[in-house]
Amino acid sequence: MARGLAQLRGVLGERGVLDPGAAAAGFVRDERGLLPARPAAVLRPRSTAEVAAALRVCAEHRIPVVPFAGGTGLVGGAIPLGDRTQVVLSVRALDRIREVDPADFSLTAEAGCVLTDVQRAAEEHGLAFPLRLASEGSARLGGAIATNAGGSNVLRYGMTRELVLGLEAVLPDGRIWHGLRRLRKDNTGYDLKQLLIGSEGTLGVVTAATVRLVPRARHHAVALLALPGLDAVTALLALAREVLADRLTALELFSRTGLDLLTRQLGARDPFARPHPRYLLVEATGTRDPVGLADQLREFLAEALERGLAADALPALDGPQARAFWALREGLPEAEKRAGGAVKHDVGVPLGALAEFVAAAEEQVARAFPGTVVNAFGHVGDGNVHFNVLGAGERAAEVSAAVYRLVAQWEGTVSAEHGIGVLKRDALAYTRDPLELELLRTVKQALDPLGIMNPGKLLP
Ligand SMILES: Cc1cc2nc3c(=O)[nH]c(=O)nc-3n(C[C@H](O)[C@H](O)[C@H](O)COP(=O)(O)OP(=O)(O)OC[C@H]3O[C@@H](n4cnc5c(N)ncnc54)[C@H](O)[C@@H]3O)c2cc1C
Repeated sequence: MARGLAQLRGVLGERGVLDPGAAAAGFVRDERGLLPARPAAVLRPRSTAEVAAALRVCAEHRIPVVPFAGGTGLVGGAIPLGDRTQVVLSVRALDRIREVDPADFSLTAEAGCVLTDVQRAAEEHGLAFPLRLASEGSARLGGAIATNAGGSNVLRYGMTRELVLGLEAVLPDGRIWHGLRRLRKDNTGYDLKQLLIGSEGTLGVVTAATVRLVPRARHHAVALLALPGLDAVTALLALAREVLADRLTALELFSRTGLDLLTRQLGARDPFARPHPRYLLVEATGTRDPVGLADQLREFLAEALERGLAADALPALDGPQARAFWALREGLPEAEKRAGGAVKHDVGVPLGALAEFVAAAEEQVARAFPGTVVNAFGHVGDGNVHFNVLGAGERAAEVSAAVYRLVAQWEGTVSAEHGIGVLKRDALAYTRDPLELELLRTVKQALDPLGIMNPGKLLP
């Protein structure tokens, strides 16, 4: 390690290699505070060429490398394992927007660009980069790509996977793959960029990407519905898709438990006159015709009320009210944190099974683990539920095993959008069969035969 680090100082300069003390005191820390971070060093290359040079040295000395971008990942993927046995490679200094091409509806940016900077660059050209996460002010493009981030616009624009047109990446042996294509159609065999998207730093370092832009939404129609119960959810999803069609951008479910947490922990105000079991936040967006958009939302709300799918409904009358509704949904993780934290499960099930899954899982967890409280919320339009359990204490591992068994029973996934990292590594086998795991290992072996890229992550 010592010889390798000396050589890394040679290629990156003294300021390009932070020693462990400064590194630990600096930016490498686990977002959820669950894992210690003890890197051997933090590498800070300033260009793709420097990333390549650093990886060549790491390959030569068999030094394990942990790519690091915004550090907002929730599964410990960017946190080095062991005590000073792995180096962290930060892409933060690769922070240039290389090109915005409005005619092509595309933007090329480096991996260290903060997501809000990418969004801003698109907006300056009247366009939008539609990846929307509560962490977008800190998360970076490289991290979003490596985790195939989701967020609240997936319903309309898809996951990060669907937003990437091309990639530039450094392979574990230091070779640079120049894959910054901008094609909408390219049917020429295996789609290599898709292997790197969602690979969580285990196959190489993403240094830049060309992403898809969309026309900027100028009008937003937002409403909060109070539901009589979970039974209404499936029919409401279908109704929203039918009435709001391709203007439907977000459908977020939360429960009375969630609203109680918000009022108690964050001092939020209940927007309705009386309590309801569930709430659904709906957002539709449009580029033109605000009147037509508002009419469509009104039609959706009227039919939901008439059919008894909603007990009450509040359309947001203006921007501040729409933001207040969103603040309820986005405040839930913070409210949980202030209430002492939760065992988190970012799970997904088929759309049609969502309501049934949540009801059954809530009931079974309550029965098996007395004293716990389930706060289930999330991007239900995508079948994605954050099934978080408060008050589990020492029983956290048992609670998670029970939740993942139920997810498998409902043909779901143990990670809908946060990835696997180290925290969910052992859960992967609940919903990936042995053949799939073998194929994943085959891909890893082919691209990273020395096993230096983020070892101990993703693959069990
Ligand atoms: C408040 C909050 C809200 C969130 N909301 C969402 C949400 O709605 N949807 C969602 O999907 N996620 C969400 N997240 C999780 C997180 O923000 C995303 O996973 C994000 O994409 C991580 O980006 P990052 O730059 O912080 O990556 P990091 O945390 O730095 O890294 C994440 C993983 O990617 C790897 N990596 C980083 N950069 C590179 C690179 N250049 N090349 C190769 N590998 C790399 C790392 O090794 C690690 O495995 C949320 C997190 C927080 C704190």
